[in-house]
Amino acid sequence: MKPSLLVVGGGIGGLSAALACSRAGAQVRLLDRVAQLSEVGAGIQLGPNVMRRLHRWGLAGRLAQVVALPERLRARNAITGKTLAELTLGEQTVQKYGAPYATVHRADLQQLLLAEVQQHTHTRITLNACASSFAQSAAGVTLHTLQGLSLQADALVGADGLWSRVRQCLLGDDAPHVTGHVAYRAIVQQSALPERLRSPFVTAWFGPRLHVVQYPVRCGEWLNVVAVVQGRLRGPENQTWDHQAVAGELRAALSDAGAHAALLDLVNAIHDWRLWALCDRAPMRGAHEQAQGRVALLGDAAHPMRPYLAQGAGMAIEDADELGQLLGSGLRDMPDLLHRYAQIRWQRNAKVQARSIRNGGIYHAQGLMRWGRDRALSLFGPRLMDMPWLYEC
Ligand SMILES: Cc1cc2nc3c(=O)[nH]c(=O)nc-3n(C[C@H](O)[C@H](O)[C@H](O)COP(=O)(O)OP(=O)(O)OC[C@H]3O[C@@H](n4cnc5c(N)ncnc54)[C@H](O)[C@@H]3O)c2cc1C
Repeated sequence: MKPSLLVVGGGIGGLSAALACSRAGAQVRLLDRVAQLSEVGAGIQLGPNVMRRLHRWGLAGRLAQVVALPERLRARNAITGKTLAELTLGEQTVQKYGAPYATVHRADLQQLLLAEVQQHTHTRITLNACASSFAQSAAGVTLHTLQGLSLQADALVGADGLWSRVRQCLLGDDAPHVTGHVAYRAIVQQSALPERLRSPFVTAWFGPRLHVVQYPVRCGEWLNVVAVVQGRLRGPENQTWDHQAVAGELRAALSDAGAHAALLDLVNAIHDWRLWALCDRAPMRGAHEQAQGRVALLGDAAHPMRPYLAQGAGMAIEDADELGQLLGSGLRDMPDLLHRYAQIRWQRNAKVQARSIRNGGIYHAQGLMRWGRDRALSLFGPRLMDMPWLYEC
């Protein structure tokens, strides 16, 4: 008998879970509340820790058709424009970590995962299905949706994102924390930009209470830019993933901070910005926050984080991979399997959440701390920018 799994959520986390578990022989049913699975028009960075797992799932060929493989990661001071440090990526990363450092359009990654999930005949996707509650017993778990579906399985995976209903039913904890940081995102064809603004690298600009990151996606043909500004609180629409942003607001924030002309030049050249408020949760405190009984949490549902280590989706993919590996090992007692999953995952997720918060403080440093950051980057840049603890795992 194949073990049966219900996965709630068809984002990068849920699709990865569905794929990893189907590959391991489980019968998977994935549900999402939306009528069509789609991702926001923005990029994500995928470290070698993530790419190695995606390659193991047999996705190397398909990924190669959509990702960009930046040769360098560059840190610049957003006010002086000075290049503080550079880390060589490309072949050096492959040699060191067994996979490249890649950047990708979120929709490309989601479509690629979806296409792969659909190839598994024992995997079913149900849309317009909004999970509302579940009940678990010694025999299994029953999930109820707002549309009146009642579905049974051996286990339930809540991959329903930041405002997870599955988490709410499982842990009953408070709502996510509104950080007071807002992200402005834009994606633009490189050919539409003046030559001086095009770039094949990942560049992070560090400024007081703000930072900007730019990198290529879609085989280098598009440029993704994200600016995070601290202290510009956005009203009650925190739950919305993306908003039509006022480009003038971002420009004002950068001008007020005294941003360097080269950075203003880039931001001024882009007109269509989208914005959302960043929320997170405190780092995980124990395995019970990752799984209990027959119910597991995965991705942002378990460990939403600030994007300052660029690893939120990465940790969702790692969660999925570990779950798939446990299923593939032949374990069939679901509470035991999910307990092991939680034990394997929670501390790493907590560490990445904590480092993401810490990085925010460093990226947005002011005064003496800013001076110390720049000095440290100038002296030990590559050593500080490389993260074996993260990429080797
Ligand atoms: C500015 C910014 C930059 C980022 N950059 C990076 C980066 O470079 N690298 C990286 O790895 N990560 C990055 N991240 C983080 C990453 O985007 C998230 O961690 C990741 O997308 C989470 O995926 P998920 O599948 O867990 O959740 P989501 O993408 O939120 O998916 C949740 C899914 O669940 C569905 N759903 C919700 N509720 C229900 C319900 N009740 N019933 C059924 N379905 C439901 C939703 O419709 C959705 O499809 C960034 C995030 C931000 C904000």
